[in-house]
Amino acid sequence: MMRIYADNAATTKMSNTAIQAMLPYMAEIYGNPSSLYTIGQEAKEALENARARVAKCIGAEPREIIFTSGGSEADNQAIVSAAKSGERRGKKHIISTAFEHHAVLHTLKKLEKEQGFEVTLLDVHANGIVTAEEVANAIREDTCLVTVMFANNEIGTVQPIAEIGAVCREKGVLFHTDAVQAAGHTTIDVKAQNIDMLSISAHKFHGPKGAGVLYAKKGIPLVNLIEGGAQERGKRAGTENVPAIMGLAAALEEATANIAAYEAKMIPLRDRLIAGLSEIPYGELNGDREHRLPGTVNFCFEGIEGESLLLLLDDKGVSASSGSACTSGSLDPSHVLLAIGRPHEVAHGSLRLSFGEDVTVEEIDYTIEAVKEVVAYLRGMSPFWRDLESGKRPHIFAK
Ligand SMILES: *Cc1c(COP(=O)(O)O)cnc(C)c1O
Repeated sequence: MMRIYADNAATTKMSNTAIQAMLPYMAEIYGNPSSLYTIGQEAKEALENARARVAKCIGAEPREIIFTSGGSEADNQAIVSAAKSGERRGKKHIISTAFEHHAVLHTLKKLEKEQGFEVTLLDVHANGIVTAEEVANAIREDTCLVTVMFANNEIGTVQPIAEIGAVCREKGVLFHTDAVQAAGHTTIDVKAQNIDMLSISAHKFHGPKGAGVLYAKKGIPLVNLIEGGAQERGKRAGTENVPAIMGLAAALEEATANIAAYEAKMIPLRDRLIAGLSEIPYGELNGDREHRLPGTVNFCFEGIEGESLLLLLDDKGVSASSGSACTSGSLDPSHVLLAIGRPHEVAHGSLRLSFGEDVTVEEIDYTIEAVKEVVAYLRGMSPFWRDLESGKRPHIFAK
């Protein structure tokens, strides 16, 4: 049986380059970067070198890079920092979107509940995209932050980040973007795209888990979430995870250098997958057809329960997801699918397939066939589907 990993949006396999970059910092150069003797200073040098390389990948300066434990921490720190500096100026309004990652949404909820901030969540429409104009219209005198994700982790749609950034810059409002799905998958340039703060996570681009980056443009005051030593310019205490940071830098460099080749290979395969899955009756692609990541596809199918679909696909060797890894295991439908207007009953029947660059055309075709078979099988057993077929319930999608 084929074994196909189609859940790269949840996490990725580490690249050999990343693993090799980490090994010396576990086995030999294991010193604490704050220590003054040679292996401490060697680790420090490697750390600063990694910082410069990461900065270069996103068009930033080394001192604008803070290493964190991942994307969630970077999102939390960016939002809390912007909120604090807004509060000092009497500005307690934040703009975001309804389909952000929970690391953003839950942080915003907490500011609302515990600190009296007001949060506007913009509509992302049926195509999963928010426009710069809508952001501009929502900005008020008291807005201190706009946070809009670069690319959505469930449906893969890519937002007009440079335009949103330009609007924020013009109005003097800080702009943060959760770029965890974008980094290494599409070009990031914080200067050209007018980004003030940005979050990325190594394990989404073939680096190790538990390592991320917060980029904060120089001059932006940061609040630290973890108190302790003076690591990371006093903005993030704790002995630096040097091996993971070396893996992060190597993986980001490798992925960034390969973006053109990645897109050239992945886009036709993604489109082949979309075309194949579109042959399934009463199903629909979620999110814009064009403005999407090269590797992520998400469909809703009527009369299907997502969990059963995933389990049967796993039996056929396909590891997929029905949305976010964080909500699987809960029976709530995806907040992302509800945000793009999918009714509850189809939001439960979603399938996310996210491929990595080692995928083959045979694997794509095998996956299409596997999904077709499993959807037909599940519908054959579903009383709900019988009601749809007999006209007792109306269909939501066209055939
Ligand atoms: C995975 C992910 C995160 C969380 O990153 P971690 O490193 O796992 O904490 C945040 N935002 C998005 C869009 C993600 O896909």
